[in-house]
Amino acid sequence: MAASWRDLARCRGMDTDLFFPEPDVVPTVLEVCAVCPVRDACLDDAVAVETREGGGAYGIRGGMIASHRARLLSRMKRSGTILSASQFLTKEGA
Ligand code: SF4
Repeated sequence: MAASWRDLARCRGMDTDLFFPEPDVVPTVLEVCAVCPVRDACLDDAVAVETREGGGAYGIRGGMIASHRARLLSRMKRSGTILSASQFLTKEGA
């Protein structure tokens, strides 16, 4: 079976509860994401799932807290982009 980006996740093996943290722990968790080699793939997957399910965003994924991902998704919808979330962020920052 082909390796998945999940196999390279910095959070692999960590307690998943850490990614649904109390507000005072958020910066520490984001530090894990900041050095994750598959952050873009994780963000793209999270936003794709949240788009498909049409529900809210939960927890930290792809280096973003849920409310930031929800705002990102809102901006993407308004723009009508066909880019992935990570590509869209890169373009916004350009
Ligand atoms: S970006 Fe964060 S949540 Fe996503 S795989 Fe990497 S460490 Fe885990």
